[in-house]
Amino acid sequence: MPERILNLENGIIAQLLEDCVDRNEIPDPTKASIWIINNDNAINVRKFLISVIRHPDPKVFLKPVFLQKSLKKHYKEYKSYNLKHLCDGYIQDVNIQNKIPYIRFILNFIQKLNGSLLLQDDELLKRTMLYYYSRNKNIEFYESAGSLNGYSYPRIEAYYDSSEDSYMYGRALLNGAYKNDYLRRNYVDTSHICKKCSSGFLNYREECPKCKQHNLQVRVLIHHFRCAYVATEQSFQQGDRLICPKCSMELKNLGVDYDKPGKVFYCLNDRCRNEFQKPLIGVHCINCKTEQMPYELKLEKIYNYELTQKAINEILN
Ligand SMILES: [Zn+2]
Ligand SMILES: [Zn+2]
Ligand SMILES: [Zn+2]
Repeated sequence: MPERILNLENGIIAQLLEDCVDRNEIPDPTKASIWIINNDNAINVRKFLISVIRHPDPKVFLKPVFLQKSLKKHYKEYKSYNLKHLCDGYIQDVNIQNKIPYIRFILNFIQKLNGSLLLQDDELLKRTMLYYYSRNKNIEFYESAGSLNGYSYPRIEAYYDSSEDSYMYGRALLNGAYKNDYLRRNYVDTSHICKKCSSGFLNYREECPKCKQHNLQVRVLIHHFRCAYVATEQSFQQGDRLICPKCSMELKNLGVDYDKPGKVFYCLNDRCRNEFQKPLIGVHCINCKTEQMPYELKLEKIYNYELTQKAINEILN
């Protein structure tokens, strides 16, 4: 089926993309000023949007591309795809009324670019600067369970295939641009990630300092006022009564004849059975299975980025 062309308000021509999304085929960018995705298959939509982002022709990768709100429910299961951050977001019932200045700015910008300009695969920074300038947007992170460390720059990461490459090369791109004064950065958050694979999917748990196992029990301490004996609740328990193992008196009223000054950990490893107050904290990486101590984790600062004047001058020249 040919992809439908619509004449929208203010002379903006839209093309509804259906089959070409399934075929992952980029339509002729000169046929319409904007593209509207009319396909409910989230997997194919993602592949298509990535092909648009990676396309060498600015008329393609700068093209305003919208998703439709009516299809949003079909994408719901694929939240980690960040579809709306791989394009210009959602519109309702092909209504672009409030987007016209936004679209116009992009179309004028594309028109002013050298018509035969094609970007090579290694010109990712230039591609990024052109895109964010044309959108008048900052490069912002999004929290995403589908990314390696939970903080994702979806459009930057779309340049790469695996989540490891996306993380490593994507961060290197942003960092390099910052160091060369193409981007300014604003601190947002600090994240702790695996020392080996940079994953943020980490499990923190208490460990026995003696045998390093983490199957522990928390035991409440009891302090008998009369004889000053302190031990775990278990050692006072006789049936449902509390009897002091030192002076054999029964403990009746919390706060009157005894109190609970704290708790201790008890190691459930049969060969250890260590009782201790300060456990170690161990960190297990769910992505690569590496065990590490909290101080060994890598620390990453998360920033949002904006184009500098140097970047803008470069784009406009
Ligand atoms: Zn132990
Ligand atoms: Zn006692
Ligand atoms: Zn790891």
